[in-house]
Parts: sequence; C-alpha cells; structure tokens
Amino acid sequence: MSYQTYEHVAVGEHFVQFYENDDFLIEGLTDYIGSALAAGDKGIVIATKPHLEALEENLNQLGLLDCERPNDGDDNYLSFEASKMLPKFMVDDMPDEERFTDLIGGIIREAADEHNGHVRVFGEMVALLACDTLQSEQNHAAAIRVEKCFNKLLQRTCFSLLCGYPMGAFPRASDAIVFHEVCNLHTRAIPTEKYKAPPNTDALQRTIVSMQQKAFSLASEVNERLLIEQALRAVNFDRLTGLPNRSVFQDRLQMEIRKADRSRLSLALLFIDLDYFKEINDTLGHPVGDMLLKQVGQRLSSSVRASDTVARLGGDEFTVILPGVNDLGIVDHITQSILQKLLEPFQLGNDNVYISASIGITLYPEDAASTQDLIRNADQAMYASKDLGRNRTSYFDKSMQEAAQKRMKLTKELRNALPSKQFRLDYQPIVNLSNGKIYKAEALLRWQHPVNGLISPVDFIPIAERSGMIIDIGEWVFYEAVRQVMLWRKYNADFQISVNVSPVQFNKNNNNQLCRWGEFLKGNELVQENAPAGITVEITEGLLLDASPIVINQLLAFRDVGIQVALDDFGTGYSSLSYLRKFDIDYLKIDKSFVFDLDTKPDNLALCEGIIVMAHKLGLKVIAEGVENRKQCDLLRDAGCDFAQGYLFSKPVSVEEFEAGMSE
Ligand code: C2E
Ligand code: MG
Ligand code: MG
Repeated sequence: MSYQTYEHVAVGEHFVQFYENDDFLIEGLTDYIGSALAAGDKGIVIATKPHLEALEENLNQLGLLDCERPNDGDDNYLSFEASKMLPKFMVDDMPDEERFTDLIGGIIREAADEHNGHVRVFGEMVALLACDTLQSEQNHAAAIRVEKCFNKLLQRTCFSLLCGYPMGAFPRASDAIVFHEVCNLHTRAIPTEKYKAPPNTDALQRTIVSMQQKAFSLASEVNERLLIEQALRAVNFDRLTGLPNRSVFQDRLQMEIRKADRSRLSLALLFIDLDYFKEINDTLGHPVGDMLLKQVGQRLSSSVRASDTVARLGGDEFTVILPGVNDLGIVDHITQSILQKLLEPFQLGNDNVYISASIGITLYPEDAASTQDLIRNADQAMYASKDLGRNRTSYFDKSMQEAAQKRMKLTKELRNALPSKQFRLDYQPIVNLSNGKIYKAEALLRWQHPVNGLISPVDFIPIAERSGMIIDIGEWVFYEAVRQVMLWRKYNADFQISVNVSPVQFNKNNNNQLCRWGEFLKGNELVQENAPAGITVEITEGLLLDASPIVINQLLAFRDVGIQVALDDFGTGYSSLSYLRKFDIDYLKIDKSFVFDLDTKPDNLALCEGIIVMAHKLGLKVIAEGVENRKQCDLLRDAGCDFAQGYLFSKPVSVEEFEAGMSE
C-alpha cells in the first residue's frame, strides 16, 4: 500500500475527511495511521468499536500492528473506544472543555512528550458525539466545540490530527453553513475523490460532497493567496501610507537605473524630508502626525507622473524616482509642484496644519552610478536645502560630497578623542555687572586634534550629537567641571561653573545620565541647603519646545538638588515667553547676536531692554553673552542686565590662565 495522502503530515496540521461509508473511513484511516506507524510515529485513534476492529485488522495485515496486544503501551499504537470516552467529558450532551482537555489532551500530551511531537491522532467525530448526523443544532454546536477544543490543544501540544465526519452528517442545504464552519476550523480538507467510491453509494450524495469539497479547496486556495498577498504587502509596502517601503524603493531604483542605461535618458532621485515634522508630532500627538504623513503620501503621489515611484523610507522621509529625464525643466516642474502642494493646509481632525519640505535632488548617471551613492547624494542635497532655510530644493554637487566625507572622517576621529585625552575644558568668566566680580564661569569644550589643531565645538558638537557620542563626552565634561569647581570653591565658596547640556542628553534613552548627576551631587559638598549648587546647566530653547514629561521631570530633579538652569542663546530659537513661565529656569542668556551691534543699532538695544524687563518680571536673572566692548557693557548695565560674559572681560581660557586672572 502506498501512503500517498498522508505521507507527509506536518506537526500542527488539522485535517478533515468526509467519508461516504465505513469502507471509505477505514481505508483513509488505515492510510493515515498506517503511514504513521510505518514511520515509527505514534498513532492514536478514537472511534467506534467496529471501526477500531476493522482498522486494527488492516494494520495487522500490513504487518504494522500485533493484533494480539494492540494497546500494549510499548506500542506506537493507542486506541480508544469513543463510547467509553464520551461519558468522561460530555456534560448535558455537550463536550465540557475542561474535561475534554484533561482527558484527551492528557493522552495526547503524554504521547507527544514521549514521541517528540511525532504523534497522529484520529477522531471519529460523530462517534465522539454519540450521534449519526449533526442534524440537530445541539450536535452542530457540539461538533464545533470539539473542533475548537482540538485547536486549542494543537496550539499547546505538538501533534497532527485527522477528524472524520460521515458525508451524511450535513444532509441539508442549510447545513452548508456548519459544513463551512467545520472546514474553516481545519488546516486542510482531504478531497473525497482520492478514494474509489463504492458502487452502491448514492451518486447524487457523492457529487454534492465532492462539489462541496472542491468549493472548499478553492476557497482555501483563494484565501491562501489573499494571505500571501497580504503578507507581501506587509513586507513591501509601508503600512501607514501604502507607499512602497525602503526595500521596494531600492529594487525599483535598481530597475530604473537599468532602464536608464538602455534608454540613455537620465533619472532624477528626490529625497524629501518634511520641515519641523517632529514639532507637529510632539505638539499635536502621534495619531495626528500619522494622519499628516498619510496625506503627504497622497499629495506626493498626485504630484508625479504614473511612471514615477513615490516611496516612504521611514519617519518623515520620502523619496521619488523620476525616470526618463531628458531636460531638467521637468524635474524643476515636478519638485516645485510638490513644494506648492505641501504648502497647502492639511486638515487633520479639527486642526489646520501647515508644513513645508526640504528636497534634495541627484541625477543618474551624472552624479553617481550605484543606488547607494544616489541615495546618499540626494540625502546630502536635502540637508543643503535645510541649511539654506528649508522649503526649497537643492541639486547635489561635489562640494556636498566633500563636506560629507570630511564629516565622516571627523566622526571617526572623534571616537578616539575621549580615550586619547584630546579634550579639555576652557573657562570663560561670567562677570557680575553690579560689582564687577567673577563668581561664575562657563565651561567650554575644546578638542585638541593631533593633526588639525584646535577644533571648534561648533564643528564637532553636532557630530557628537548625531552619533550619540555626546553622552560620553557630556559625562566627561560634567565630572571634569565638578572637579574644577570643587577646587575653585576653596577660594570662593559660592563659585559656580556652568556646563552646556545637549538636548540629546535629555533624550529618554539617555535619561539615566542626568539622574545620576543629580544623585552624585546630592552627597557632595557642592550642594548645600538653600543655596545654589556649584554646577549650573545651560540648555537651549529647542529642548523646551519638546516639553516631554522627561524634560520637565529632569528640570525639576535638577531643582531638587539646587542645580540652576540657564537658557542659552536666547533669541535665536523659538523664544517663547510661555516656556519661561512653564519651566524652572533661573538664568536667561541673551545671545551674542543681539549684543554684537547693541551700541550701533537702537533696535537691538530696545530688544535687549525688553528681554531684561520681561525676564526680571518672571523672576529670572539675565546674562549677556558676547560683550566685546565697554559701550555694550555700559548699555547692558544701564538696562538692568545682571551678568555679562565676553571678550571684553576674557576669552575662554585654560585653568591656569583663569586662576591667574582671579588672583590679579
Ligand atoms: P555657547 O554655550 O553659547 O558658548 C558661548 C560661545 O561664545 C563660546 O563659543 C564662546 O567662546 C563664544 N564667545 C564668548 N565671548 C565671546 C565674545 O565676546 N565674542 C564672540 N564673538 N564670541 C564669544 P565656543 O567656545 O566656540 O562654543 C560654541 C558653542 O559650542 C557653545 O555656545 C555651546 O553651545 C557649544 N559647546 C561648547 N562646549 C560644550 C559642551 O561641553 N557641551 C555641549 N553640549 N556644547 C558645548
Ligand atoms: Mg553656553
Ligand atoms: Mg550661548
């Protein structure tokens, strides 16, 4: 005998077989259990007594079973008479899930443990329910419940299962619903026509069942195809916007490059990044941010030709491939149309939201030959658009690549700077304008590069922030400043050093760092009751715009240990009064760009005076940055400014020079 139908049965499969009569059942059952025994697997059968006997006789003839001791326990074969099992789990003619699971589940579990999951179970369903047909609603419900119990067992235990129903169990047209429900509870329905129908079987009945089964196989095939399509979509398309995702985009770009080679036409790649999307996400919430991204996707798709590809790489980054470019006019036309369309208001729930985008453009084959290089170029050009003031397009050019290469080199070298002790802190005095005394200094980081010499923090702090290195560097700055201020407090008990803290250090993933600083200072002499701590932190307005609970809590935790907070570069960012009221800020530092032409531009003087009055009203002290001459200093003092810092007093200097200055 060949075990064609059941030769390969995977663990976890749950088949259903509709049999026309007993011969048919026994033949199928012999196949199913016989092939298991032949393979050394365990076979468990629950059926009526006559069916068990017929099966065992067949298995015996095949040499797969010793009929004398069919249930010996050592054997791979285990059989149960349904009528004896039934009373153990039926309650009021309905299978009780708990009892069923205990009894049948227990038997199967034990076998599965012994046989490492190589277990095949057969359940004769009407026998299990003590009925001939499922005609009554009660029997229908009982069958469905047993199948569901089996499915639960299959989730927890490794085995495969064949359930057999007589064809006559679903005799009426209205049974089609239950028939389908039964089919749906299985992974596969074994087609009837695999077996020769005995000649005396009612032809009509046979046809009906075989047609039902074909319909089911077809339905499950369609269903499978749908599932496959869904899975493919999930893998290839962005769930939010329905646009191709990064991997599809890369494939398409590769394909378009090949087409461009054949057609000898160029292609343009656009990299589109929304401006200030993070702010929208943070202020209006992620669901609104998601709605916006979805609509942006739609507007992008409607701005391009059918032959173009719009994709979402992730976050607020989109790309567009424009193939068949023989004149840049078309690229300019499309990019301008994209910018215009994105400027129109987005209706998101009750809000009207306005955004813009920065676009970078690169061309194949003009700018690069590979997909990776093209993407990198477009990204760099996009950054150029951001730097130039956003809401614009920039074409990639070689200087961008050079700048990017320089940045990459610097990033590599920066990794080595901390272990190689290439950093130092310079200190710039902060002068009290009412008495000219110096009780404060700002710690400013210096990178002494072994080849390039001194590198400005303006050049390397952004790199450190982007690469995450700012965490370790910030840690070093903090402890170094702590060490220094402890020494200087010996000369002056109120001395304070301020350290610049990057917004990245407030990020939730790095939050522990700032908590540790607070904890560290708690037990330290720098913290004394009712007096400001020896360390002050300088933050920027961008951080307050985020206003996440993490930031708020962190600022409060600083307050708890007496760490004062200064708002750096005031006037260059979002400069909102509401932040100053909302957060615990002690000092406001007027940016040097306002101080720079204070003495020549009356407007700037008016601005500084306004800032000082406002800050004082809110209980903040004011520090003016970048004071370079006496006139600026006098004007600021007259305006009521509390502190000043700048080349007039001293440039940032080394510890030794600073100490020399103090002892003068
Ligand atoms: P900042 O915190 O606003 O520091 C003041 C900057 O103004 C310093 O530049 C200082 O040298 C410069 N400055 C001071 N007085 C004058 C003046 O009279 N005229 C002019 N034109 N400039 C003056 P520096 O040292 O190049 O630092 C630049 C920025 O780098 C700092 O701006 C700060 O944002 C950042 N930075 C410096 N050290 C650190 C650090 O340890 N951590 C972090 N995260 N950022 C740092
Ligand atoms: Mg600062
Ligand atoms: Mg500043």
